[in-house]
Amino acid sequence: MSNFTMLIHGGAGTILKEDMTPALEHAYLEGLQMALSVSYAVLEQGGTAINAVKAALVLLEDNVLFNAGRGAVFTKKGVQEMDAAIMDGSDLSAGAVAGVRNVRNPIELATEVMRNSNHVFLSGKGANDFAIKQGIKLEPDEYFFSQFRYDQWKAIRDSDNYSLDHTNHHLEELMRDKKFGTIGAVACDSNGNVAAATSTGGMTNKKYGRIGDSPMIGAGTYANNATCAISCTGHGEIFIRSVAAYDVSCLMEYKGLSLREAMDKVVNEKLVKMQGEGGMIGVDAKGNAAMIFNSAGMYRGLKSSNGLQEVSIYK
Ligand code: ASP
Repeated sequence: MSNFTMLIHGGAGTILKEDMTPALEHAYLEGLQMALSVSYAVLEQGGTAINAVKAALVLLEDNVLFNAGRGAVFTKKGVQEMDAAIMDGSDLSAGAVAGVRNVRNPIELATEVMRNSNHVFLSGKGANDFAIKQGIKLEPDEYFFSQFRYDQWKAIRDSDNYSLDHTNHHLEELMRDKKFGTIGAVACDSNGNVAAATSTGGMTNKKYGRIGDSPMIGAGTYANNATCAISCTGHGEIFIRSVAAYDVSCLMEYKGLSLREAMDKVVNEKLVKMQGEGGMIGVDAKGNAAMIFNSAGMYRGLKSSNGLQEVSIYK
């Protein structure tokens, strides 16, 4: 039996204490704490890493504060199009969906793709048809509505600007002032199996069916017992181009780096060079864990059987 470890994130970016009210900070920490406790309990009761990451994401998707499931950002057309992926490091099975609408928990649909389709990645209307066929829970548009996301979108909907989660800025301002509200989880269970999951509404005012890194296996999400499980958050386009999650795995597999060394290299060297702001959480099959980001903050939490426990926001 090995150490078991649970990690979650709720997005990274320019998250500063001075921009936060005590009530909002409390609500974020409470949301993270709840998802962490429930998913850690899955591991404690001998459950699998894959079930633990799914349990964490369902709770965070149901929490309107985070940009995934309920509370997802609005697209150019004023709807929510959501992306999610899940991967099991024990057999490299994976499932992902992109641009799905009205699905209460996109991570449930991604898991269904992994388990009960002959495919890995479904998108748009086809993915929604599959959700209906498999009896995945749907919700009306009103369920996903949140006033603050709506206001963010209203401020830029008549422009060609797009914005990452909370920001309403022009593109060059985006490079300086970004917050990313994507959610993710990684886990190592008591049998030494690892898993990763990520879910997001993507970017405010996104159009043309834009898809970020979150649902792309290898970019925003990856898990392999031989190396690590990784879930990313940040400027999706850059994470896709740098194949960020798989790059951590490769640095461990081919260069013999430790989990922390590999994550540090990708987040603080390679992504920084490409102006890729954001971060990632990671765990290996021995239960070693790291949460690394190059932005001002990352909503994050960690709990492990060797006594480590942390829920935090700022650097
Ligand atoms: N990576 C996500 C995307 O580009 C955004 C985020 O992390 O919040 O869709």
